[in-house]
Amino acid sequence: MNNSNVKKGTNLEDIQEMNRSLLLKLIRKYRICTRAQLAKETGLKQASITKIIASLIELGIVQEVGVVDGEKGRRSIGISINNHLYKFIGVKLSRKSFSIGVYDLFGEEYKFKSEKIDMLTGATVTLNKMKTAVQELMSEYEDVAAIGIAIPGPFLKTKGKIAIITELPGWENIDIKVEFDKTFRIPVFVEHDANAAALAEWWFSENHFEHGVMVNLLAGEGVGAGIIIDGQLFAGSQGMAGEVGHMSIDYNGRKCSCGSYGCLEKYCTTYVLIKETKENLKKYPESILNDDADLTAERIFEAMEFGDELAVEMVKLMGQYMGYGIVNIANVYNPNWVIISETMSRGGEVLIHSIHETVRPRLLASVYENISIQITEFANDSILYGAAAIAADNFLKSPNRYL
Ligand SMILES: [Zn+2]
Repeated sequence: MNNSNVKKGTNLEDIQEMNRSLLLKLIRKYRICTRAQLAKETGLKQASITKIIASLIELGIVQEVGVVDGEKGRRSIGISINNHLYKFIGVKLSRKSFSIGVYDLFGEEYKFKSEKIDMLTGATVTLNKMKTAVQELMSEYEDVAAIGIAIPGPFLKTKGKIAIITELPGWENIDIKVEFDKTFRIPVFVEHDANAAALAEWWFSENHFEHGVMVNLLAGEGVGAGIIIDGQLFAGSQGMAGEVGHMSIDYNGRKCSCGSYGCLEKYCTTYVLIKETKENLKKYPESILNDDADLTAERIFEAMEFGDELAVEMVKLMGQYMGYGIVNIANVYNPNWVIISETMSRGGEVLIHSIHETVRPRLLASVYENISIQITEFANDSILYGAAAIAADNFLKSPNRYL
């Protein structure tokens, strides 16, 4: 690898930007805070804080919001992010459609649209449709600062290309970032959808994750994960980290198209849930699912909520398999949080309970007690929010580029 362009030193301007970035992230997190609070949290001197905040106020990205209660009952001036100054466009490409939304730094949605993809029309046509849709939104919202794109296949950061999107061929030869850069003057960022969703959890959920390790496990039609360490996405050397769908939970297990056996993805997806349920229908003649000619995952989750025994058992089974995967994930990443996202998260408490039953006896007690396993707070589409979060994250990471 050629690293000759990588800067090894840190210039004064870089330090200034790092501090700006740190303060902007904290102000965003607190929504409203005081300069004293920022000094305490960052260890920066009051004088430095005052200077940086003054420059951010001058640039319009930070604003004073009147007097608030500070520490020890002292009253001081509150500051917050001027949320209306910039917006971010998130683009989500999936196998059957693409969707686009406009968001602000707090994750509020201003606009949403979605278009179906005809797989036969090919990647270039779809790419142009995506560009046109983004262009339309940008003429409507003039304050868009950056574009984030989430794609369904592993994205080779080192090559700028999508490695593969199964069932959606033609994208391997397109450098989606270069294509967007040609059309748009603002910065464009591309990320694997699992990473985007993880970033959305960290950024926009009500959980307010602080320091620590979060693994966002996406289980829908496939299985993947995004890993966030202290607010930073862990991408791996090529941007391919988190491919837990192909982590084996049984070396003699089900054959996978990747060449391995017993891949997690062969055990806890919506496809498997439907298949296992169909195979068990006869054992549960009382189950309302016997009346369904065309079983869907959604129907099974609905039946589970009604207490249908077959549906409950099948979701438990999925939780058990997912648990085996989480044991491995926990041993590798030692996470504070494991968030279950995508369609399988509909399993809710039944799923979580089953996961715990599997994980608890298989992990060191201290490791187990350190993990909070939760269902995502996003009712739908954390990936699209994540696409916008990628753009917003980069904005706050290098604010000098925008301000
Ligand atoms: Zn595999």
